[in-house]
Amino acid sequence: DNAQPRKPSWIRVKAPQGDGYKKTHEIMREHKLTTVCEEAACPNAGECWSQGHATMMIMGEVCTRACSFCNIATGKPPEDLDPFEPGRVANAVEKLGLNHVVITSVDRDDVEDGGAEHFAQTIRAIRHRSPETTIEILTPDFLKCDPSVLEIVVEAKPDVFNHNLETVPGLYPEVRPGARYFHSLRLLQRVKELDPSIFTKSGIMVGLGEDKQSVMQVMDDMRAADIDFLTIGQYLQPTPKHQTLDRFVHPDEFKAYETAAYGKGFLMVSATPLTRSSYHAGDDFARLRDA
Ligand code: SF4
Ligand code: SF4
Repeated sequence: DNAQPRKPSWIRVKAPQGDGYKKTHEIMREHKLTTVCEEAACPNAGECWSQGHATMMIMGEVCTRACSFCNIATGKPPEDLDPFEPGRVANAVEKLGLNHVVITSVDRDDVEDGGAEHFAQTIRAIRHRSPETTIEILTPDFLKCDPSVLEIVVEAKPDVFNHNLETVPGLYPEVRPGARYFHSLRLLQRVKELDPSIFTKSGIMVGLGEDKQSVMQVMDDMRAADIDFLTIGQYLQPTPKHQTLDRFVHPDEFKAYETAAYGKGFLMVSATPLTRSSYHAGDDFARLRDA
């Protein structure tokens, strides 16, 4: 049966509202941009959008992977990459006046470089129009590409290079069947080797059936790969067809993960039930820069 555990009191989602929310929505429509906030039905959309934070998704709305937790459409993408998209993203970032922008994408295993050059062009376009805006990218794993494509992205110098491990290695076959745990770790390690001035970041969801010891091991693996920032959030099952929710993790357990993570040397940790990869990413980054 698909009976889910009842939502506990700490998973409270505020309805989207306010002028900031409307403005963000309009600018995204006008520039024909997709936000992951909407596509992934993120519980923080009301809060983030009313503050002018958003995560834009490039390279289309159809993903060539099929991760069991993810609400994005999967299949063969109907269109080639749009050469005008980097410019539209840069326009929208400028209009929204963002201090920090997160750019993510679907996986495009159908494109030879996995979209590396498209990411690089998007970073350069934003830099050109909004030189003060810090840029965070949340990338695919480029698993099917020549390893050298990573250099294309790194050379465009994003401020933060984020790639999520999503879950513990033992759950990969079920949760992230198209990906490889050690490939994803190594990708982030190589970013740091190529350009140590770029902050690296990764995250996992909990409540998928992982045990606490495996979460600790993932943190150790991440630190061994020199990953700087960590996010841990509660998995929420988008529909009954998606990966079954195992449990709601108590806020105290998140707190314990946060304490452990700082002890292991991460520079910045966000571990709360509603933490998402891009939640408050800009505030955190500003705090760190000003520290
Ligand atoms: Fe969008 Fe990220 Fe905020 Fe969710 S947490 S609404 S995905 S910016
Ligand atoms: Fe979703 Fe990313 Fe997996 Fe594609 S690769 S199905 S966008 S989580």
